[in-house]
Amino acid sequence: MAVTCPLLRSRVRSIDASTAAGREHPLEPTRAQVRTAVTVPLRFADGYATTARVMTFTGLADGREHLAIGLGDWEGALERSASGGPAPLVRPHSECLTGDVLGSERCDCGPQLREAVERIAEAGGILLYLRQEGRGIGLYAKLDAYALQDTGLDTYEANVALGRGEDERDYEPAAQMLHAVGAGRIRLLSNNPDKAAQLELLGIDVEERVPTGVHLAESNARYLLTKVEHTDHTLALPGVA
Ligand SMILES: [Zn+2]
Repeated sequence: MAVTCPLLRSRVRSIDASTAAGREHPLEPTRAQVRTAVTVPLRFADGYATTARVMTFTGLADGREHLAIGLGDWEGALERSASGGPAPLVRPHSECLTGDVLGSERCDCGPQLREAVERIAEAGGILLYLRQEGRGIGLYAKLDAYALQDTGLDTYEANVALGRGEDERDYEPAAQMLHAVGAGRIRLLSNNPDKAAQLELLGIDVEERVPTGVHLAESNARYLLTKVEHTDHTLALPGVA
């Protein structure tokens, strides 16, 4: 299993050791609790509108202000899941100021977020908005990495050239939030196999991985191709087997 997060890599090694000792269990993240929940009506630039239940937390592992956003009949979805029905649809979305807010076409984050909100609202589920900009290296470093990409490096090589990990994202707060709202069993809206692997290690039962759409533009084609080739993202790009 390819676990790219350095924090989890060390934990995976300790799991391997505990498995060898005959103790097989996923990592139990420390408990977080819902701190507040408020209703926020949403309206996107294209006119799509829905209502979100935005939740904040205490006790998140990295102390950052991550959000869980209940969409559609998310509470009904949790109840149906608890009584053996289908699990709620969940997408962990990592913050991308340039893509989410400014509509940058260097990546596909904006369209991914927009698609996720509508699909989760239809099915009932939770969007996790994770404050780990630039695969966890931060906004300024991400923009520095863009400058390096303009000299020919790909998105992963640029992070490494900056002395950072290829992908420093850690899904422990995501797992903590899911446990806190009672979503220990999910259908994961994602093309990234690493997200599923990390959440499984953190005690979340990923019942199904649901692929997202492809948001291809001239300016993000190289970025998307790199994701497919480098981390086995399941994106059906034209011309890629
Ligand atoms: Zn982005």
